[in-house]
Amino acid sequence: MTQIEIVPCLSDNYAYLVSANGQCAVIDPSEPEPVKAALKKRGWKLTHILNTHHHLDHTGGNLALKQEFGALVVGPEKDSARIPGIDIGVDERGWEFAGMPVQVLEVPAHTRGAITFVIDGNAFTGDTLFAMGCGRLFEGDPQMMWTSLSKLMKLPDETMVYCGHEYTQSNGRFALTLEPGNAALKARMEEVSATRAAQKPTVPSNMALEKATNPFLRPDSAEIRKSLGMENADTVSVFGEIRARKDRF
Ligand code: ZN
Ligand code: FE
Repeated sequence: MTQIEIVPCLSDNYAYLVSANGQCAVIDPSEPEPVKAALKKRGWKLTHILNTHHHLDHTGGNLALKQEFGALVVGPEKDSARIPGIDIGVDERGWEFAGMPVQVLEVPAHTRGAITFVIDGNAFTGDTLFAMGCGRLFEGDPQMMWTSLSKLMKLPDETMVYCGHEYTQSNGRFALTLEPGNAALKARMEEVSATRAAQKPTVPSNMALEKATNPFLRPDSAEIRKSLGMENADTVSVFGEIRARKDRF
């Protein structure tokens, strides 16, 4: 059985512990200490360190954890030069963890090397897909990010989505400016507000919910297009405008 522990790091990052069949991986350890505390609490021994992309708030704990536990660092082969301590470079041929196949999706745009790991129905999306949001386009353009998100949208609806940051509430506020009539979005925001008021994480979400409420997956929504005055524009242009407006939000 796969078990997942959410590990809040820094101010709004999430690392995740994934335990199965006696092995344990941490996804995107921003810093070592909270990860060590979570391992201790669960009684798990770290065997792998997985990075969705090279940014320091996702890899800052790599070297300390590698040294302490002898864990293997796994990251995007295409970005191996920027992943601290990397031992295993992966690409879309996939990988194996704890005897389970791990799907690796290359999803460039936030960074050129960004990947999503899918382990036992759980997608670790880093800063590519957030709950009701998507990452900034630091190393790609709207076409590249749309292609990456479209790849994630092909995952089964019930896929759980574990993203890299707690940005959900502000993402949702932005989403409502574009799609105030989206009932699923309004309902989700009420839930999110209650969850945050209780100081709990809003992760994980799932693909069905993201497709219904995340404006970055909905550039073909009639209401969003109307809000933007882009009823007849092509999908990527609408997506690019949504991203540009979020940058200024
Ligand atoms: Zn990042
Ligand atoms: Fe980040």
